[in-house]
Amino acid sequence: MDKTTLFIDFDDTIVSYMRSERGALEKLCNLVNMDVSKINSMVALYREKNKELWNMFQEGEINISQITSERFAYIISKFHEFANYDPEHLNKLYLRFFVQSTEIEDDTRLYLEKLKLKYNIIIVTNGIHEVQKKRMFRIGLFDLIDGFVSSEVAGAAKPRPHIFALSHSKIEEICERSIAKNEILMIGDSYSADVVGSNNYGIDACWITDEDDSKDSKYKFNTFNEACEYLLKGNQ
Ligand SMILES: [Mg+2]
Repeated sequence: MDKTTLFIDFDDTIVSYMRSERGALEKLCNLVNMDVSKINSMVALYREKNKELWNMFQEGEINISQITSERFAYIISKFHEFANYDPEHLNKLYLRFFVQSTEIEDDTRLYLEKLKLKYNIIIVTNGIHEVQKKRMFRIGLFDLIDGFVSSEVAGAAKPRPHIFALSHSKIEEICERSIAKNEILMIGDSYSADVVGSNNYGIDACWITDEDDSKDSKYKFNTFNEACEYLLKGNQ
């Protein structure tokens, strides 16, 4: 493998989205003194709604601001504890707590430090630009990467090709040289967004998954750290 450049997904590839999300939702519930026995069902309902809305966004059916207002309008309608909040305010609080609940594992950081010595690295993430930026800042990621592109700035979410094209031109600009598609590897946990999206753009993918199914990817590892081991050993 003769890759020089890595496109890396953020959520559930280098940080746990679920952990950030759970931490933020628990803080919201604590804020309104919600009974502890109800927190799990609040988290489950939020996740169900949020997933539905993000899928609609990935299909280009709704925009980001519809996701953020509709997910909390739904929660307010289901839990009387939030009756005094409007969806926008609740969303703002949630996002603040979401940033505060973002953590990176020490070994993941160490692997990124080593990768950075060998590859150009750009984060390619579906998400709200300012929120993703604050989360990356919080965990000190900017010392370990060359840049990042969000779906909000690209105006298109993975798997659509435009976000990959923008990431490609951005890393070329940062490195001040042209980079061929066969030098690039996309690493991510979502088959539909990261693997199919990057393949359709014309670059190879490394799928991080513990699913044992028939879906195929040129490279496939159970964890991000295992992929890093391979990338640090191979490609000498
Ligand atoms: Mg992901």
